[in-house]
Amino acid sequence: MPFHLTADQDLIRKTVREIAGAFEGKPADDLDRERAFPKEQIKALGQLGLAGMLVPAELGGPGTDAVSFVLALEEVARASGVVALVLNNLNALGTFPLATRGTQEARDRFLPQALAGETFLAWALTEPQAGTDLGGVATRAAKKGDAYVLNGLKSFVVGASDASAILVFARTSEKDGLTAFVVPASAKGVRIAPPERTMALRGSDMAQVFLKDVEVPAALRLGDEGSGTALAAQCNELASLGAAAIAVGVMQASLEDAIEYAGQREQFRLPLKQFQAIQFLVSQLDVELRASRLLAWAAADLRDRGEDASAAIAAAKLYAGEAAKLVTQKSIRIHGGAGFMRELPVERFNRDARALSVYAGTAEAERAILAAKALGL
Ligand SMILES: Cc1cc2nc3c(=O)[nH]c(=O)nc-3n(C[C@H](O)[C@H](O)[C@H](O)COP(=O)(O)OP(=O)(O)OC[C@H]3O[C@@H](n4cnc5c(N)ncnc54)[C@H](O)[C@@H]3O)c2cc1C
Repeated sequence: MPFHLTADQDLIRKTVREIAGAFEGKPADDLDRERAFPKEQIKALGQLGLAGMLVPAELGGPGTDAVSFVLALEEVARASGVVALVLNNLNALGTFPLATRGTQEARDRFLPQALAGETFLAWALTEPQAGTDLGGVATRAAKKGDAYVLNGLKSFVVGASDASAILVFARTSEKDGLTAFVVPASAKGVRIAPPERTMALRGSDMAQVFLKDVEVPAALRLGDEGSGTALAAQCNELASLGAAAIAVGVMQASLEDAIEYAGQREQFRLPLKQFQAIQFLVSQLDVELRASRLLAWAAADLRDRGEDASAAIAAAKLYAGEAAKLVTQKSIRIHGGAGFMRELPVERFNRDARALSVYAGTAEAERAILAAKALGL
């Protein structure tokens, strides 16, 4: 499929690359080493309108198209995987659902600061017994007058301790689907555990969230009772598209580093890039990157044209997630022993890449989506 970016899309790409340049290299390494939540970076990106890219203009957002969303995440991820992860969550799983489903009260209270990148909105769907299978969600929301009382435990919540509000998915009854609530992080009964010590994407402040008799006014419900299951699927699809773009950005950074190293490092009195084994490796990685990028752009374009993009997004995320592991691993190979050193970013790229085939839907879940589509299941 031939693909031409519009002048606006190209401008977004170049602008974000410039902004993200400020946290490329050492700042990105510092975030990883210190496991620091990228508050300042998100604020800088928010000032550019990148915290609410998917929020339509009539709801106060920039109404960015999905291709531009992908381009922006790609460029941010080229600089830092964790900044891109947090930005993706804030967009796909934060400002988008709040803007499109929240009541006026919920939006007035939490949206403007989140759109400005000044506060974070966390997404609490997963539970210890509910990962791929959301049938296991055990968090309960019991109606009490004009409010709900929430009890449960959420896990893997990115940015939990940095959020102004947490979008919590619970059950109001046994038979209906899930219902989403905007729970103020300061509400009585919300307890956030210390951040998990993750292998990669360090600094995401992923944590468990305990909810004990948390009273939430009905005005902070997102959509109707039972509508949360469809909302979760819709937002997860967007996060999955963002994750494909993050994988592309991480691959791009990794390959650029490997190419630079192959030009500098000499063995047998020749730069590594003169050896055919290295040339063929680089060409293989280049193909993986090109294929991943085209799949991500094509999926975003399909969505922009108002078509069903679920299979295209699953294919892009599945392919790019797997390719990112290969490209970053082989980039380490090109670096020889130096690739194992913390001083060089390739080992971080490889760690970050590994998270991307779990985050926003596992590779198996994506295969299931594709198989269902192909086989009419
Ligand atoms: C970086 C990162 C950020 C995240 N951020 C958030 C967040 O902000 N908020 C949030 O709520 N959650 C978040 N998550 C959680 C994420 O959504 C879950 O990890 C994911 O849905 C998988 O659930 P699980 O880890 O419980 O794995 P499980 O569902 O237990 O799966 C374990 C393995 O079994 C496989 N499997 C499961 N079912 C099947 C099946 N039917 N057929 C074949 N294989 C199967 C899976 O593919 C996987 O390989 C995050 C995860 C990561 C890694």
